[in-house]
Amino acid sequence: MDILKTKVAIIGAGPSGLLLGQLLYKAGIDHIIVERQSEEYVASRIRAGILEQVTVDLLEQAGVDENLKNKGLPHSGIEILTFKQKHRIDLTNLTEGKQVTVYGQTEVTKDLMTARKNSGLQSFYMAQDVRINNFYDQPEVEFVVDGRAVKIECEFIAGCDGYHGICRASVPSDQIKTFEKVYPFGWLGILADVPPVSDELIYVQSERGFALCSMRSHTRSRYYLQVPLTEKVEDWSDEKFWEELKNRLDPESREKLVTGESIEKSIAPLRSFVTEPMRFGKLFLAGDAAHIVPPTGAKGLNLAASDIAYLSQALIEFYHDGSEKGINEYSEKCLKRVWKAERFSWWMTHLLHRFETETEFEHKIKQAELSYILDSQAGRTTLAENYVGLPY
Ligand SMILES: Cc1cc2nc3c(=O)[nH]c(=O)nc-3n(C[C@H](O)[C@H](O)[C@H](O)COP(=O)(O)OP(=O)(O)OC[C@H]3O[C@@H](n4cnc5c(N)ncnc54)[C@H](O)[C@@H]3O)c2cc1C
Repeated sequence: MDILKTKVAIIGAGPSGLLLGQLLYKAGIDHIIVERQSEEYVASRIRAGILEQVTVDLLEQAGVDENLKNKGLPHSGIEILTFKQKHRIDLTNLTEGKQVTVYGQTEVTKDLMTARKNSGLQSFYMAQDVRINNFYDQPEVEFVVDGRAVKIECEFIAGCDGYHGICRASVPSDQIKTFEKVYPFGWLGILADVPPVSDELIYVQSERGFALCSMRSHTRSRYYLQVPLTEKVEDWSDEKFWEELKNRLDPESREKLVTGESIEKSIAPLRSFVTEPMRFGKLFLAGDAAHIVPPTGAKGLNLAASDIAYLSQALIEFYHDGSEKGINEYSEKCLKRVWKAERFSWWMTHLLHRFETETEFEHKIKQAELSYILDSQAGRTTLAENYVGLPY
C-alpha cells in the first residue's frame, strides 16, 4: 500500500472540493483531492448556472475569475410571469446595487481544474472503494486507484463528495440528524444552442405548472418544465418539450422563443435536505454532502461556495494563527446561512409550482401571496435580497 501524508484530504472534486483546494493552495496549505469519477465526467456535468455576488467574489479571491469576468453575464433583474403578465424584480435597485452572474457550473469546474493543473496540485481521479477512518482522532482516507491501494494520513478530512458520497454515510447514526422534504415533481431540463427568449431569466407560474427560461450565454439556453415524477425523459421529444413550454408562456415570449435541437435533456427530482451538525471531530461536510435545495432559488452551488468560504477561513486561521475558533464555529455559521437558503428555496418552490394535492382554497391563498409579493416594495425587496444572496 502507498502511504501519503497531507494536512487536508478533500473527498470529491465537484465545485466544493475544487474551490477548497484552490483556496488552501493560495494559503500554502498542503492537501490532496480524491474523486471517484473521471476528470472528463466531472468537467461535463451540466448543473447550476447562477452565481451570487459573494460566490463571484470568492472565485476572484481564489484567483480563478478570468473567464468569469470575460464571459459571465451580469443580471440586474429577473422576471416572474404570472397572472398572464410579466413582473420584473429589479434586483439591483432593491438590494443597493447587488446583482447575480450567469456563468455555468461546468465553466466554474473547468476553470478550477485548469488552475489546479497549472499549479501541479495532487488529485486522484477514478478512485475506487474510497473509505474514511478514524476522523475523531487520526483521520485516514483509503482507496484504490489503477489497481493499487493508497492510504492518506491527514489532519482533517473535507467531505465534499455530494449527496451520494461516503463522508456523511460514515458518520455514526447517533451523531447526526437529517431533515428532509421530497417534492412530488421534478424539473425536466433542456440545454440547446439557441439564443435565450429574454435577456433576463423568466420564472413562470402557470396553471399547467412551473417553467423556467434560463441561459448559459447569449447563444446557449437552458429551459425547465415542472413534470410529475412519473415522467420519463425518453417520452419527451424536443418538439413535445418546446410545445409544452410555449403553452406555459405569455404570447410575447411564445412569439420570440427560438427552438432547436437539445444537446442535453434530463429530469432532476426536487428535494430539500439538511444535515446537522456539519462537523464531526476532524471531518467537515460541505456543499451537497451536507445539504440539498430545490433549484428554484438558484442556491445549491452558492451554498456550496459559502460553506467553503467558512471552511477555508477556519483552516487558514488554524494553520496560520493556531486558532481553533473558526473550526469550532464552522457548523453553526454554515447552518445559519443554510437554513435561510433552504427556507427561500422551499418558499419559491411552494409559491411557483402547482401541487396536485393543493385544494382550491390553498391555490387561491398562494395566488394572493404572490400578488402581494409582486405588488409591494417590501415583498419584492424580500425576494430580491434572498435571490442575490444573503451576506456571509
Ligand atoms: C441535476 C442537477 C441539477 C442542478 N441544477 C442546479 C441549478 O440549476 N441551480 C443550482 O443552484 N444548483 C443546481 N444543482 C445543485 C448544484 O449543482 C450543487 O449544489 C453543486 O454541484 C454542489 O457542489 P458539490 O461540490 O458540493 O457537490 P457535487 O457537485 O455533487 O460534487 C461532489 C463530487 O464528489 C464525488 N464523489 C461522490 N462520492 C464520492 C466518493 N465516494 N469518493 C470520492 N468522490 C466522490 C462526485 O463524483 C462529485 O464529483 C443541481 C444539481 C443536480 C444534481
